[in-house]
This record gives sequence, C-alpha cells and structure tokens, in this order.
Amino acid sequence: MRRRPTLSRLRVLEQTQWYSLDALLAMQLEALRGLLAHARRNVPYYRERLRDVDVDAIREPADLLRVPLLTRADAQGSSETRRSTAPPFVAIHKATSGTLGLPVSFGYEMDSETWRQAVRLRGYGWAGYRPGVRAFHFWGPGARQKGLRGAKVELDHLLRRERYFDCTVRSPDRLDAAIEHVKRFRPDVIVCFASAGGALARRVLETGARSWGTIPVICGAEALLPSDRAVMEDAFGPAVFETYGSREVMLMASECAEHDGLHVQMENVIVEVVVRDGDAVRHAAPGEVGEVAVTDLHNRAMPFIRYLNGDRAVAGDTTRCGCQRQLSRLKSIEGRVTAMLRDRAGAPVAGLFVHALLAHVGHAFRGFQAVQRADGAVTLRLVKSATFDETAHRYLLDGFERYLEGVPVTSEFLEDIPAGRNGKRQVILQDG
Ligand SMILES: [Zn+2]
Repeated sequence: MRRRPTLSRLRVLEQTQWYSLDALLAMQLEALRGLLAHARRNVPYYRERLRDVDVDAIREPADLLRVPLLTRADAQGSSETRRSTAPPFVAIHKATSGTLGLPVSFGYEMDSETWRQAVRLRGYGWAGYRPGVRAFHFWGPGARQKGLRGAKVELDHLLRRERYFDCTVRSPDRLDAAIEHVKRFRPDVIVCFASAGGALARRVLETGARSWGTIPVICGAEALLPSDRAVMEDAFGPAVFETYGSREVMLMASECAEHDGLHVQMENVIVEVVVRDGDAVRHAAPGEVGEVAVTDLHNRAMPFIRYLNGDRAVAGDTTRCGCQRQLSRLKSIEGRVTAMLRDRAGAPVAGLFVHALLAHVGHAFRGFQAVQRADGAVTLRLVKSATFDETAHRYLLDGFERYLEGVPVTSEFLEDIPAGRNGKRQVILQDG
C-alpha cells in the first residue's frame, strides 16, 4: 500500500462523504467529463466510440445514457486498444475470470490504486475496520501471494495485525480450526466471503462456541443472503455489513451502520443500474432490477466507462439514509452466488478457488468448465486458446487436486463448451 498518499486521500474522502448529493454528483460528472475527454484524445478504442458524444453537455446523471456501454465481450476484445497512448500508463496489471471462464485483462495507474485503497478504507471504516485493528480475514485463495512480493505483503499484514485463513474448504474440521483462530486472535473485525461467514456462523451456533461479544463482520465477494446474515448476527452480533466490489474496480458500494442499502463510493466510481430493451437503454426505477454499469473515474490508463460487469442490482431510492450521508445507494445486489464443489468426504468446497486458478492461466483457454458427477469425480472441459501450453493445464489439475483432496480429476479437450438449458456456460456444473 502506498501509505501516505492513501491516508491523505482517505482524509479527503472522510470529508466529502458528508457533502450534499448535488455536490457529489457535480464532482462525479466533472471527473467523468475529464475522463471522457482524455479517452477520446488518447485511447484508440474510444476515439471512434466517443466521436459523437458532446462531452461538455454531460451535466446530469441522465446524460450518461448518451455514452456507449462497454460489454464484457467489448472489454475482452479491447485489452490492447483500450490502453492510453499518453500518460498515465498502466502500472498494475491484473486479470479477472468471468463466469464464462474467459478472463478480462485490465490495468490501471498508481494513482487509481491510491483511490482504490482509500475508498476501501473508508467503506470498511463504516464497519469499524481501520489500519492497525485486529482483522481476521476468512477469505479465498490469492489473499496471500507467494514469492518476494508475498513476503512484503506478509510483513504488511503482520504490522497491520491481519490474519488470513483460507475459507475454501468448509468441512467441520476446517470450520472448527477457524473458530479456534477467532478465539485465540480475538479480532476487532472479521472480513469474509459472505457464504463462508454464513458457514462459520452456523458452526459456531451448532457447537455453542461463541465466547465473544459483538464482532463486526464485513462480507464481500458474493451476495449476502438473508439466511447467512441472520446466522452471522446470532454468532457474531448484529453488526453485519455487506460490501460490493469486483477485481476490475475494487469497492463500489458498502453498507453503513444503518444497514439500509449500500452507499456507492461516488468519488471513485459511477454505478448505474440500467435496463436494456433491444437498442434502448434506460436507468432502472427505484426498486427495479437491472444490469450494473460501472465507470471507474480515476483509471485513465485503461478506462472502464459504463462497463457492464455481468452483475445485477436493485436500484435504490433517493430517501435520506439515517446516517445522513447522501452518497447514493443501491438497494441490493443480485446473484453472485458461488457454485460449490465437494471434496472426497462430501464437504462443500467453494468454487471461487477455480476463479483464482483461472486468473493465473485463463489466457491459455478459450473455454472452461468443471463438471462434478454424482460419484464425486471431476472432469475439466477445456477449450485451448492460441496461447495454450501444457504448464497451464498442469497448473489447473494441480490446483483442483489440492483443493479437492482425494477426488479424481481428469480433463478433456473440446472445440466448445456446450451451453446449459438456460443458454449459459457455467464454470462449475453439478451433473447428477
Ligand atoms: Zn447510511
């Protein structure tokens, strides 16, 4: 973390969160006009796409509808042409694995990293998390990185008194081990995958293990189901906070202590909920479900403008939140349910590890699907890309064998992944 710039930006964000909605919207739209002007001038992909957009005429949220959307397919196909040819340049490279198993490569500049960290600190701060508190991360693989960079990250975590515990395997033994950790470490806050927090809470209640007062729980990475929220409230106290983020832009929205929808991190992102009807696109009405379109206001190196990230959300209304912040709100996030696999003993193993593997080697495949049969055996259906190599294949098999201990894993190469009954190509499929 770039500590000093992050903390000074956090101090600014702690002021701006009390601004009026009008002031926040004005800030957002000014940043957007700057981004659009930059993109049209310096980003090959947008030179054409923004040609007919009158940037200076974008004065209110409804004007956003004049700016073209960026679909996932557009994002996948423009990983070269969406880079700025003038500074700032991409300093941090990442990739995401979509629900189709196809990665979106992206990058952003250092300044955007500072924004991301500061926004995360503010959003998590609403739940009581701040640098230096004891935080227990019940999180998926990839939270800790290996190698030299990992060593530095590790030290950072130690200084910040953060502990990581892999939540992928959810057998009773692993959950008990995590509970032991909570008892010994006495965290000030728990940060977890929503479904993992639910599984942990159920185990706490089952075994009567609770020996603590209220520990705030910050849930991310997947939708927080009401049933999971309820058990977490019983096991850790009533302070359960949902957050909404993605690899591409990090934290987009999070709950305050009112737990009445998720406040959008408006200074860094524009989050629209849109309804597409043929070629017509409109903003969803309050309470209506639509597709999330996110604009990263401070990534000029490789812009994401009105990016349809594949999530669906329920648009919030404009009533004032009890916390008095006027940052706009999403009512809820839909979907984002993690598919589960099973280990040899039948214990659930969260399929998110698959996405972590694909984030590393997804470039080698045009298509990917893991099918687990009733007898437990797993077949990886793979479609080779032009950059396929056997090392990537081996990496996938090793990863599956590590997380699904004792489960036979084989692979087969296909020309295409067959679509399911709903027309979608799921990454993880339970067959029988
Ligand atoms: Zn609030």
